[in-house]
Amino acid sequence: MTHKILIANRGEIALRVIRACREMGIPSVAVHSTADADAMHVRMADETICIGPAPSPDSYLSIPAIISACEVTGATMIHPGYGFLSENARFVQIVEDHDITFIGPSAEHIRTMGDKITAKETAKDLGIPVVPGSEGGVASVEEAKEIGASFGYPVIVKATAGGGGRGMKVARDEDEMARAYQTARAEAKAAFGNDEVYIEKYLQRPRHIEIQVFGDGQGGGVHLGERDCSLQRRHQKVFEEAPGPSISPEERAHIGAICANAVAKMGYRGAGTIEFLYEDGEFYFIEMNTRLQVEHPVTEGIFGVDLVREQILVAAGQPLSFTQDDLQINGHAIEVRINAEKLPEFRPSPGTISHFHAPGGLGVRMDSALYDGYRIPPYYDSLIGKLIVHGRDRPEALARLNRALGELIVDGIDTTVPLFHALLREKDIHTGEYNIHWLEKWLEAGGLE
Ligand code: ADP
Repeated sequence: MTHKILIANRGEIALRVIRACREMGIPSVAVHSTADADAMHVRMADETICIGPAPSPDSYLSIPAIISACEVTGATMIHPGYGFLSENARFVQIVEDHDITFIGPSAEHIRTMGDKITAKETAKDLGIPVVPGSEGGVASVEEAKEIGASFGYPVIVKATAGGGGRGMKVARDEDEMARAYQTARAEAKAAFGNDEVYIEKYLQRPRHIEIQVFGDGQGGGVHLGERDCSLQRRHQKVFEEAPGPSISPEERAHIGAICANAVAKMGYRGAGTIEFLYEDGEFYFIEMNTRLQVEHPVTEGIFGVDLVREQILVAAGQPLSFTQDDLQINGHAIEVRINAEKLPEFRPSPGTISHFHAPGGLGVRMDSALYDGYRIPPYYDSLIGKLIVHGRDRPEALARLNRALGELIVDGIDTTVPLFHALLREKDIHTGEYNIHWLEKWLEAGGLE
Protein backbone atom coordinates (compact mmCIF):
# COMPACT_ATOMS: atom_id res chain seq x y z
CA MET A 1 0.00 0.00 0.00
CA THR A 2 1.43 3.37 -0.93
CA HIS A 3 -0.18 5.30 1.85
CA LYS A 4 0.81 7.65 4.63
CA ILE A 5 -1.37 7.74 7.73
CA LEU A 6 -1.93 10.82 9.85
CA ILE A 7 -3.16 10.07 13.35
CA ALA A 8 -5.60 12.71 14.57
CA ASN A 9 -5.15 11.82 18.21
CA ARG A 10 -2.65 11.64 21.08
CA GLY A 11 -1.54 9.43 23.96
CA GLU A 12 -1.70 5.67 24.05
CA ILE A 13 -4.11 5.35 21.13
CA ALA A 14 -1.88 7.41 18.82
CA LEU A 15 0.97 5.08 19.76
CA ARG A 16 -1.26 2.06 19.17
CA VAL A 17 -1.98 3.20 15.61
CA ILE A 18 1.70 4.00 14.95
CA ARG A 19 2.55 0.42 15.97
CA ALA A 20 0.13 -1.01 13.40
CA CYS A 21 1.50 1.33 10.72
CA ARG A 22 5.07 0.22 11.46
CA GLU A 23 4.20 -3.44 11.16
CA MET A 24 2.44 -2.78 7.84
CA GLY A 25 5.31 -0.67 6.52
CA ILE A 26 3.13 2.44 6.24
CA PRO A 27 4.68 5.80 7.20
CA SER A 28 2.90 7.58 10.07
CA VAL A 29 2.41 11.24 10.89
CA ALA A 30 1.80 12.37 14.47
CA VAL A 31 0.00 15.64 15.11
CA HIS A 32 0.40 17.39 18.44
CA SER A 33 -0.50 20.47 20.42
CA THR A 34 2.19 22.66 21.93
CA ALA A 35 1.52 20.94 25.28
CA ASP A 36 2.38 17.56 23.73
CA ALA A 37 5.67 18.46 22.03
CA ASP A 38 7.47 15.92 24.26
CA ALA A 39 4.80 13.24 24.07
CA MET A 40 5.66 9.65 23.24
CA HIS A 41 3.46 9.48 20.13
CA VAL A 42 5.45 12.40 18.75
CA ARG A 43 8.75 10.61 19.44
CA MET A 44 7.60 7.39 17.80
CA ALA A 45 6.00 8.61 14.56
CA ASP A 46 7.90 8.91 11.29
CA GLU A 47 6.88 12.55 10.91
CA THR A 48 5.38 15.07 13.28
CA ILE A 49 3.55 18.33 12.95
CA CYS A 50 2.35 20.83 15.56
CA ILE A 51 -1.28 21.73 14.96
CA GLY A 52 -1.98 24.34 17.62
CA PRO A 53 -2.06 25.35 21.27
CA ALA A 54 -2.92 23.14 24.25
CA PRO A 55 -6.72 23.44 24.43
CA SER A 56 -8.16 20.68 22.23
CA PRO A 57 -10.66 22.89 20.35
CA ASP A 58 -7.60 24.70 18.94
CA SER A 59 -5.61 21.57 18.11
CA TYR A 60 -6.91 17.97 18.26
CA LEU A 61 -10.46 19.13 17.51
CA SER A 62 -9.52 21.72 14.90
CA ILE A 63 -10.64 20.40 11.52
CA PRO A 64 -8.77 23.07 9.48
CA ALA A 65 -5.56 22.36 11.41
CA ILE A 66 -5.80 18.63 10.76
CA ILE A 67 -6.66 18.96 7.09
CA SER A 68 -3.76 21.40 6.62
CA ALA A 69 -1.46 18.94 8.39
CA CYS A 70 -2.45 16.30 5.83
CA GLU A 71 -1.75 18.65 2.97
CA VAL A 72 1.63 19.71 4.36
CA THR A 73 2.79 16.13 5.07
CA GLY A 74 1.13 14.46 2.08
CA ALA A 75 -0.83 12.07 4.30
CA THR A 76 -3.35 10.04 2.32
CA MET A 77 -5.31 8.55 5.21
CA ILE A 78 -6.47 9.71 8.64
CA HIS A 79 -6.90 7.46 11.65
CA PRO A 80 -9.03 9.26 14.24
CA GLY A 81 -8.41 6.97 17.24
CA TYR A 82 -11.25 7.28 19.77
CA GLY A 83 -12.74 10.45 21.24
CA PHE A 84 -11.84 13.80 19.62
CA LEU A 85 -13.05 13.79 15.99
CA SER A 86 -13.58 10.03 15.68
CA GLU A 87 -17.37 10.23 15.56
CA ASN A 88 -17.76 13.62 13.93
CA ALA A 89 -19.66 13.16 10.66
CA ARG A 90 -18.87 16.68 9.45
CA PHE A 91 -15.16 16.01 9.87
CA VAL A 92 -15.42 12.78 7.88
CA GLN A 93 -17.27 14.59 5.11
CA ILE A 94 -14.58 17.27 4.93
CA VAL A 95 -11.81 14.64 4.97
CA GLU A 96 -13.43 12.85 2.04
CA ASP A 97 -14.02 16.10 0.16
CA HIS A 98 -10.24 16.58 0.32
CA ASP A 99 -9.65 13.14 -1.20
CA ILE A 100 -8.19 11.82 2.01
CA THR A 101 -9.29 8.37 3.17
CA PHE A 102 -10.95 8.27 6.57
CA ILE A 103 -10.14 5.10 8.48
CA GLY A 104 -13.64 4.41 9.69
CA PRO A 105 -17.21 4.26 8.44
CA SER A 106 -18.97 6.71 6.13
CA ALA A 107 -20.15 10.11 7.38
CA GLU A 108 -23.70 8.90 6.87
CA HIS A 109 -23.30 5.88 9.16
CA ILE A 110 -21.61 8.02 11.81
CA ARG A 111 -24.46 10.53 11.64
CA THR A 112 -27.13 7.84 11.88
CA MET A 113 -25.54 6.21 14.91
CA GLY A 114 -24.48 9.50 16.55
CA ASP A 115 -28.07 10.50 17.09
CA LYS A 116 -29.31 8.01 19.64
CA ILE A 117 -32.94 8.14 18.56
CA THR A 118 -32.13 7.51 14.89
CA ALA A 119 -29.65 4.86 16.00
CA LYS A 120 -32.31 3.05 17.99
CA GLU A 121 -34.80 3.19 15.13
CA THR A 122 -32.17 1.92 12.70
CA ALA A 123 -31.20 -0.88 15.07
CA LYS A 124 -34.82 -1.92 15.41
CA ASP A 125 -35.25 -1.98 11.63
CA LEU A 126 -32.14 -4.16 11.35
CA GLY A 127 -33.62 -6.73 13.73
CA ILE A 128 -31.58 -5.75 16.80
CA PRO A 129 -33.51 -5.93 20.11
CA VAL A 130 -33.78 -2.50 21.82
CA VAL A 131 -34.64 -1.20 25.33
CA PRO A 132 -38.35 -0.37 25.56
CA GLY A 133 -38.88 3.38 25.67
CA SER A 134 -40.33 6.53 24.12
CA GLU A 135 -40.89 6.70 20.39
CA GLY A 136 -38.30 9.37 19.64
CA GLY A 137 -37.75 12.62 21.55
CA VAL A 138 -39.81 13.73 24.53
CA ALA A 139 -40.89 17.37 24.29
CA SER A 140 -42.31 18.21 27.73
CA VAL A 141 -42.41 17.18 31.38
CA GLU A 142 -46.06 16.21 30.91
CA GLU A 143 -45.20 13.86 28.08
CA ALA A 144 -42.32 12.48 30.15
CA LYS A 145 -44.73 11.74 33.00
CA GLU A 146 -47.17 10.01 30.68
CA ILE A 147 -44.36 7.80 29.39
CA GLY A 148 -43.20 7.06 32.94
CA ALA A 149 -46.73 6.00 33.86
CA SER A 150 -47.12 3.80 30.80
CA PHE A 151 -43.75 1.98 31.10
CA GLY A 152 -43.67 1.93 34.89
CA TYR A 153 -40.88 3.46 37.00
CA PRO A 154 -37.90 3.60 37.22
CA VAL A 155 -37.04 5.13 33.85
CA ILE A 156 -33.92 6.86 32.53
CA VAL A 157 -33.92 10.17 30.66
CA LYS A 158 -31.11 10.23 28.10
CA ALA A 159 -29.67 12.85 25.74
CA THR A 160 -30.18 12.13 22.04
CA ALA A 161 -26.72 13.52 21.36
CA GLY A 162 -25.29 11.80 24.48
CA GLY A 163 -21.88 10.33 25.06
CA GLY A 164 -19.48 9.69 27.90
CA GLY A 165 -22.34 9.07 30.29
CA ARG A 166 -23.42 12.72 30.32
CA GLY A 167 -27.00 13.96 30.09
CA MET A 168 -28.49 10.87 31.74
CA LYS A 169 -30.84 10.97 34.73
CA VAL A 170 -32.88 8.28 36.46
CA ALA A 171 -36.41 8.96 37.71
CA ARG A 172 -37.61 6.43 40.30
CA ASP A 173 -41.18 7.76 40.50
CA GLU A 174 -43.38 10.49 39.11
CA ASP A 175 -42.18 13.01 41.71
CA GLU A 176 -38.61 12.62 40.47
CA MET A 177 -39.56 12.93 36.82
CA ALA A 178 -39.75 16.72 36.48
CA ARG A 179 -36.31 17.14 37.99
CA ALA A 180 -34.70 14.27 36.06
CA TYR A 181 -36.17 15.55 32.81
CA GLN A 182 -35.03 19.13 33.34
CA THR A 183 -31.54 18.21 34.60
CA ALA A 184 -30.94 15.81 31.71
CA ARG A 185 -32.01 18.49 29.24
CA ALA A 186 -29.82 21.16 30.85
CA GLU A 187 -26.82 18.82 30.96
CA ALA A 188 -27.37 17.79 27.36
CA LYS A 189 -27.60 21.42 26.26
CA ALA A 190 -24.37 22.30 28.09
CA ALA A 191 -22.43 19.24 26.95
CA PHE A 192 -23.68 18.76 23.39
CA GLY A 193 -25.47 21.98 22.43
CA ASN A 194 -28.60 19.89 21.81
CA ASP A 195 -31.17 19.43 24.56
CA GLU A 196 -33.31 16.74 22.97
CA VAL A 197 -33.89 13.79 25.32
CA TYR A 198 -35.65 10.44 25.15
CA ILE A 199 -36.80 7.98 27.78
CA GLU A 200 -36.05 4.32 28.35
CA LYS A 201 -37.06 1.76 30.88
CA TYR A 202 -34.33 1.74 33.52
CA LEU A 203 -32.99 -1.78 33.83
CA GLN A 204 -32.30 -2.60 37.47
CA ARG A 205 -29.35 -4.96 37.39
CA PRO A 206 -28.12 -5.41 33.81
CA ARG A 207 -24.66 -6.13 32.59
CA HIS A 208 -23.07 -4.00 29.87
CA ILE A 209 -22.30 -6.36 27.00
CA GLU A 210 -20.96 -5.02 23.73
CA ILE A 211 -20.41 -6.84 20.46
CA GLN A 212 -17.37 -6.02 18.33
CA VAL A 213 -18.30 -5.95 14.67
CA PHE A 214 -16.43 -5.36 11.44
CA GLY A 215 -17.92 -4.49 8.08
CA ASP A 216 -15.97 -4.68 4.84
CA GLY A 217 -18.01 -1.85 3.32
CA GLN A 218 -19.08 -4.18 0.52
CA GLY A 219 -21.91 -6.05 2.10
CA GLY A 220 -19.84 -8.38 4.29
CA GLY A 221 -19.84 -8.38 8.08
CA VAL A 222 -18.40 -10.41 10.95
CA HIS A 223 -18.56 -10.25 14.73
CA LEU A 224 -15.76 -10.80 17.23
CA GLY A 225 -17.85 -11.79 20.21
CA GLU A 226 -18.58 -9.70 23.24
CA ARG A 227 -16.83 -7.67 25.91
CA ASP A 228 -18.33 -7.32 29.37
CA CYS A 229 -17.80 -3.72 30.53
CA SER A 230 -20.18 -3.71 33.47
CA LEU A 231 -17.70 -2.37 35.99
CA GLN A 232 -18.39 1.34 35.60
CA ARG A 233 -18.16 4.48 37.64
CA ARG A 234 -20.43 7.33 36.56
CA HIS A 235 -21.29 5.34 33.42
CA GLN A 236 -17.57 5.22 32.56
CA LYS A 237 -15.92 1.84 32.09
CA VAL A 238 -12.93 0.95 34.28
CA PHE A 239 -12.47 -2.82 33.87
CA GLU A 240 -13.36 -4.82 30.75
CA GLU A 241 -13.14 -8.47 29.87
CA ALA A 242 -13.72 -10.90 27.03
CA PRO A 243 -15.41 -13.27 26.80
CA GLY A 244 -18.21 -12.13 29.13
CA PRO A 245 -18.42 -14.40 32.18
CA SER A 246 -22.22 -14.57 31.89
CA ILE A 247 -22.53 -15.24 28.16
CA SER A 248 -22.91 -18.78 26.80
CA PRO A 249 -21.54 -19.84 23.40
CA GLU A 250 -25.15 -20.14 22.14
CA GLU A 251 -26.01 -16.58 23.24
CA ARG A 252 -22.80 -15.27 21.66
CA ALA A 253 -23.54 -17.00 18.37
CA HIS A 254 -27.11 -15.72 18.42
CA ILE A 255 -26.51 -12.03 19.20
CA GLY A 256 -23.24 -12.05 17.23
CA ALA A 257 -25.04 -13.22 14.09
CA ILE A 258 -27.72 -10.54 14.51
CA CYS A 259 -25.00 -7.86 14.75
CA ALA A 260 -22.88 -9.23 11.90
CA ASN A 261 -25.96 -9.34 9.67
CA ALA A 262 -26.89 -5.80 10.67
CA VAL A 263 -23.53 -4.33 9.64
CA ALA A 264 -23.56 -6.37 6.45
CA LYS A 265 -27.03 -5.08 5.58
CA MET A 266 -25.98 -1.49 6.31
CA GLY A 267 -22.92 -1.80 4.09
CA TYR A 268 -20.95 -0.62 7.12
CA ARG A 269 -17.19 -0.14 6.67
CA GLY A 270 -14.64 -0.80 9.41
CA ALA A 271 -14.78 -1.45 13.15
CA GLY A 272 -17.87 -0.82 15.22
CA THR A 273 -19.31 -1.74 18.58
CA ILE A 274 -22.94 -2.50 19.23
CA GLU A 275 -23.65 -1.93 22.91
CA PHE A 276 -26.30 -3.77 24.86
CA LEU A 277 -27.62 -4.02 28.35
CA TYR A 278 -28.11 -7.69 29.21
CA GLU A 279 -30.55 -8.88 31.84
CA ASP A 280 -32.21 -12.25 32.44
CA GLY A 281 -30.91 -13.69 29.19
CA GLU A 282 -32.16 -10.77 27.05
CA PHE A 283 -30.10 -8.24 25.10
CA TYR A 284 -31.28 -4.62 24.79
CA PHE A 285 -29.49 -2.31 22.33
CA ILE A 286 -28.40 1.04 23.80
CA GLU A 287 -26.07 2.47 21.16
CA MET A 288 -23.54 1.81 18.44
CA ASN A 289 -20.06 3.29 18.53
CA THR A 290 -18.69 3.83 15.04
CA ARG A 291 -15.02 3.70 15.95
CA LEU A 292 -12.33 1.70 17.68
CA GLN A 293 -13.06 1.36 21.42
CA VAL A 294 -10.63 1.98 24.27
CA GLU A 295 -11.15 -1.64 25.31
CA HIS A 296 -10.46 -3.22 21.89
CA PRO A 297 -7.29 -5.00 23.16
CA VAL A 298 -9.29 -7.61 25.12
CA THR A 299 -10.89 -8.71 21.86
CA GLU A 300 -7.48 -8.72 20.16
CA GLY A 301 -6.22 -10.86 23.04
CA ILE A 302 -8.76 -13.65 22.68
CA PHE A 303 -8.88 -13.70 18.87
CA GLY A 304 -5.22 -12.96 18.17
CA VAL A 305 -5.98 -10.33 15.52
CA ASP A 306 -4.84 -6.73 15.13
CA LEU A 307 -8.01 -4.64 14.84
CA VAL A 308 -6.20 -1.47 13.78
CA ARG A 309 -4.55 -3.33 10.94
CA GLU A 310 -7.96 -4.57 9.80
CA GLN A 311 -9.35 -1.03 9.99
CA ILE A 312 -6.55 0.16 7.71
CA LEU A 313 -7.02 -2.73 5.26
CA VAL A 314 -10.75 -2.18 4.94
CA ALA A 315 -10.32 1.60 4.56
CA ALA A 316 -7.85 0.93 1.74
CA GLY A 317 -10.48 -1.16 -0.02
CA GLN A 318 -8.92 -4.52 0.80
CA PRO A 319 -10.77 -7.49 2.26
CA LEU A 320 -10.65 -8.41 5.95
CA SER A 321 -7.90 -10.90 6.68
CA PHE A 322 -10.33 -13.29 8.43
CA THR A 323 -13.75 -14.82 7.93
CA GLN A 324 -16.27 -15.57 10.66
CA ASP A 325 -15.14 -19.22 10.74
CA ASP A 326 -11.51 -18.20 11.27
CA LEU A 327 -12.45 -16.39 14.47
CA GLN A 328 -12.09 -18.80 17.37
CA ILE A 329 -11.86 -17.67 20.99
CA ASN A 330 -8.66 -18.53 22.78
CA GLY A 331 -8.65 -18.03 26.56
CA HIS A 332 -9.65 -14.94 28.48
CA ALA A 333 -8.49 -11.31 28.48
CA ILE A 334 -8.98 -8.46 30.96
CA GLU A 335 -8.17 -4.76 30.65
CA VAL A 336 -7.98 -2.23 33.45
CA ARG A 337 -7.93 1.49 32.73
CA ILE A 338 -5.25 3.37 34.57
CA ASN A 339 -6.14 7.00 35.09
CA ALA A 340 -4.11 9.85 36.56
CA GLU A 341 -6.58 10.30 39.40
CA LYS A 342 -6.39 10.51 43.16
CA LEU A 343 -8.55 8.05 45.06
CA PRO A 344 -11.01 7.83 46.68
CA GLU A 345 -12.44 10.93 44.98
CA PHE A 346 -11.08 10.10 41.50
CA ARG A 347 -9.75 13.68 41.35
CA PRO A 348 -7.56 14.40 38.29
CA SER A 349 -3.90 14.27 39.28
CA PRO A 350 -1.73 15.46 36.42
CA GLY A 351 1.99 15.95 37.11
CA THR A 352 5.41 14.58 36.31
CA ILE A 353 6.13 10.85 36.21
CA SER A 354 9.33 10.46 38.19
CA HIS A 355 9.61 6.76 37.45
CA PHE A 356 7.72 4.40 35.17
CA HIS A 357 8.12 0.67 34.86
CA ALA A 358 5.76 -1.39 32.71
CA PRO A 359 4.96 -4.96 33.73
CA GLY A 360 5.89 -7.73 31.32
CA GLY A 361 6.03 -11.47 30.96
CA LEU A 362 3.71 -14.00 29.40
CA GLY A 363 0.25 -12.69 28.52
CA VAL A 364 0.86 -9.11 29.61
CA ARG A 365 0.35 -6.05 27.41
CA MET A 366 0.75 -2.48 28.56
CA ASP A 367 -0.63 0.17 26.21
CA SER A 368 0.50 3.55 27.49
CA ALA A 369 2.44 6.58 26.35
CA LEU A 370 4.26 7.05 29.66
CA TYR A 371 8.00 7.33 30.19
CA ASP A 372 10.36 8.45 32.96
CA GLY A 373 10.14 12.22 33.34
CA TYR A 374 6.96 12.56 31.26
CA ARG A 375 4.84 15.51 32.33
CA ILE A 376 1.13 14.72 32.03
CA PRO A 377 -0.56 17.86 30.72
CA PRO A 378 -3.73 18.92 32.56
CA TYR A 379 -5.70 19.58 29.37
CA TYR A 380 -6.80 16.13 28.28
CA ASP A 381 -8.48 12.93 29.41
CA SER A 382 -7.04 11.33 32.54
CA LEU A 383 -6.49 7.90 30.93
CA ILE A 384 -2.73 7.29 30.98
CA GLY A 385 -2.52 3.60 30.32
CA LYS A 386 -4.26 0.30 29.86
CA LEU A 387 -3.00 -2.92 31.33
CA ILE A 388 -4.25 -5.93 29.43
CA VAL A 389 -3.68 -9.52 30.46
CA HIS A 390 -4.44 -12.77 28.68
CA GLY A 391 -4.71 -16.22 30.23
CA ARG A 392 -5.93 -19.67 29.23
CA ASP A 393 -9.02 -19.08 31.33
CA ARG A 394 -10.55 -16.42 33.59
CA PRO A 395 -8.85 -17.50 36.85
CA GLU A 396 -5.47 -17.46 35.11
CA ALA A 397 -6.17 -14.01 33.66
CA LEU A 398 -7.14 -12.69 37.10
CA ALA A 399 -4.01 -14.14 38.70
CA ARG A 400 -1.93 -12.62 35.93
CA LEU A 401 -3.61 -9.24 36.41
CA ASN A 402 -2.75 -9.35 40.08
CA ARG A 403 0.85 -10.25 39.31
CA ALA A 404 1.21 -7.58 36.59
CA LEU A 405 -0.33 -4.82 38.74
CA GLY A 406 2.27 -5.68 41.35
CA GLU A 407 5.07 -5.07 38.85
CA LEU A 408 3.72 -1.77 37.53
CA ILE A 409 5.46 1.34 38.82
CA VAL A 410 4.06 4.82 38.14
CA ASP A 411 5.75 7.21 40.57
CA GLY A 412 5.20 10.94 40.93
CA ILE A 413 1.43 11.10 40.49
CA ASP A 414 -1.65 9.37 41.88
CA THR A 415 -3.29 6.69 39.76
CA THR A 416 -6.28 4.37 39.91
CA VAL A 417 -4.05 1.29 40.37
CA PRO A 418 -5.10 0.83 44.05
CA LEU A 419 -8.70 0.46 42.86
CA PHE A 420 -7.75 -2.69 40.94
CA HIS A 421 -5.76 -4.16 43.82
CA ALA A 422 -8.85 -3.66 45.98
CA LEU A 423 -11.19 -5.14 43.36
CA LEU A 424 -9.04 -8.25 43.07
CA ARG A 425 -9.69 -8.90 46.77
CA GLU A 426 -13.45 -9.12 46.14
CA LYS A 427 -15.17 -12.48 45.79
CA ASP A 428 -17.70 -11.14 43.24
CA ILE A 429 -14.89 -10.19 40.87
CA HIS A 430 -13.57 -13.74 41.02
CA THR A 431 -16.99 -15.33 40.53
CA GLY A 432 -17.83 -12.78 37.80
CA GLU A 433 -21.05 -11.83 39.55
CA TYR A 434 -21.33 -8.12 38.97
CA ASN A 435 -23.64 -5.78 37.07
CA ILE A 436 -23.46 -2.13 36.01
CA HIS A 437 -24.29 -0.93 39.55
CA TRP A 438 -21.84 -3.14 41.41
CA LEU A 439 -18.87 -0.76 41.39
CA GLU A 440 -20.81 2.34 42.50
CA LYS A 441 -22.44 0.40 45.33
CA TRP A 442 -19.13 -1.04 46.41
CA LEU A 443 -17.52 2.44 46.40
CA GLU A 444 -20.44 3.85 48.41
CA ALA A 445 -20.09 1.03 50.91
CA GLY A 446 -16.44 2.05 51.42
CA GLY A 447 -14.82 -0.56 49.18
CA LEU A 448 -11.71 1.58 48.82
CA GLU A 449 -11.22 2.18 52.53
P1 ADP B 1 -23.05 7.06 26.66
O1 ADP B 1 -23.07 7.20 25.17
O2 ADP B 1 -23.13 8.39 27.35
O3 ADP B 1 -21.95 6.19 27.16
P2 ADP B 1 -24.97 4.83 26.85
O4 ADP B 1 -26.31 4.87 26.22
O5 ADP B 1 -23.93 4.00 26.18
O6 ADP B 1 -24.45 6.35 27.02
O7 ADP B 1 -25.10 4.37 28.35
C1 ADP B 1 -23.99 4.35 29.21
C2 ADP B 1 -24.28 3.56 30.46
O8 ADP B 1 -25.43 4.10 31.15
C3 ADP B 1 -24.63 2.10 30.23
O9 ADP B 1 -23.48 1.29 30.10
C4 ADP B 1 -25.41 1.82 31.50
O10 ADP B 1 -24.52 1.68 32.59
C5 ADP B 1 -26.22 3.07 31.73
N1 ADP B 1 -27.55 2.98 31.07
C6 ADP B 1 -27.89 3.49 29.85
N2 ADP B 1 -29.18 3.21 29.53
C7 ADP B 1 -29.69 2.50 30.57
C8 ADP B 1 -30.98 1.89 30.85
N3 ADP B 1 -32.00 1.96 30.00
N4 ADP B 1 -31.12 1.23 32.03
C9 ADP B 1 -30.07 1.15 32.92
N5 ADP B 1 -28.86 1.70 32.72
C10 ADP B 1 -28.65 2.37 31.57
